[in-house]
Amino acid sequence: MADLLRYDDQVVVVTGAGGGLGKAYALFFASRGAKIVVNDLGGSFKGEGGGSKAADVVVQEIKAAGGEAVANYDSVENGDKIIETAIKAFGRIDILINNAGILRDISFKNMTDKDWDLIMAVHVTGAYRTTRAAWPHFRKQKFGRVINTASAAGLFGSFGQANYSAAKLALVGFTEVLAKEGAKYNIVCNVIAPLAASRMTETVMPPEVLEQLKPQWVVPLVAVLTHKSNNHENGSIFEVGGGHVAKIRWERSEGLLLKADESYTPGAVLKQWNKVTDFSNPSYPDGPNDFLGLLEKSMKLGPSEQ
Ligand code: NAD
Repeated sequence: MADLLRYDDQVVVVTGAGGGLGKAYALFFASRGAKIVVNDLGGSFKGEGGGSKAADVVVQEIKAAGGEAVANYDSVENGDKIIETAIKAFGRIDILINNAGILRDISFKNMTDKDWDLIMAVHVTGAYRTTRAAWPHFRKQKFGRVINTASAAGLFGSFGQANYSAAKLALVGFTEVLAKEGAKYNIVCNVIAPLAASRMTETVMPPEVLEQLKPQWVVPLVAVLTHKSNNHENGSIFEVGGGHVAKIRWERSEGLLLKADESYTPGAVLKQWNKVTDFSNPSYPDGPNDFLGLLEKSMKLGPSEQ
């Protein structure tokens, strides 16, 4: 059954589809019947320059294989123009893969405003603008699938990537909200932290490791999450690469629950610090209301429980 997943007559926009992961997505969806908007600004991995070649080559490859695709060369910062290309060429948009990305790695001490702003503009504002433009179409047709692209750097922090890590975790929060707001319109949004060989990773990993990390190995998960049959996995975070697919979630220690009155001092917290950090009886919070439940418990505590 899984091998039969198809996307006939659906329109898929893939940002940053001129190479790496984006190209793998574009070729896959085209091979399964979708019409593709191949967006790519065509610049360097640091976000400099631009050109039409990267997107054009992928469009040609799709057409040569009998598929349908159009190119778009706008920066994701002008995401409305990318969605406009989909509407003009194909009359609709069904699936949006926010994939475009750049790196401006540098230690925090040496980071400039430009390093920070460019990363935020491409990753965060780019995903926002593109999704914002697709959203009314998704709502109207009561169907939409969105993949945002985070990174292990965002989930866990990575040396020399304060800008990139901050932007990537922002996309997790962005996804969580879209998942909640989109659910009743059958708009499903998930976020992935991929690992794949590309020009972004080829200088930091040895060739034998890169060989195991083909961008194609990220595609099956994205295919499952964006398929019309998926209306249950929504607002989830996945780690994916080299054949490994896993879901990631928040874990909360059982924690310390003190009565919130004058006895709740720094010393009281310090005294039971082991409870704050003990994960032997964890819970898995998945919404802000979950915390309110804890507060109610704290209000009910008597002095003996402090
Ligand atoms: P890549 O450099 O091969 O692909 C990124 C593409 O985005 C490029 O073709 C580039 O031209 C395009 N792009 C850059 N800025 C753009 C803009 N403003 N507008 C439109 N297109 C633009 O790298 P990749 O590894 O395939 O990365 C794809 C995504 O996956 C990125 O968001 C990246 O941060 C993320 N990611 C990749 C890895 C990995 O292991 N490769 C790990 C974590 C996250």
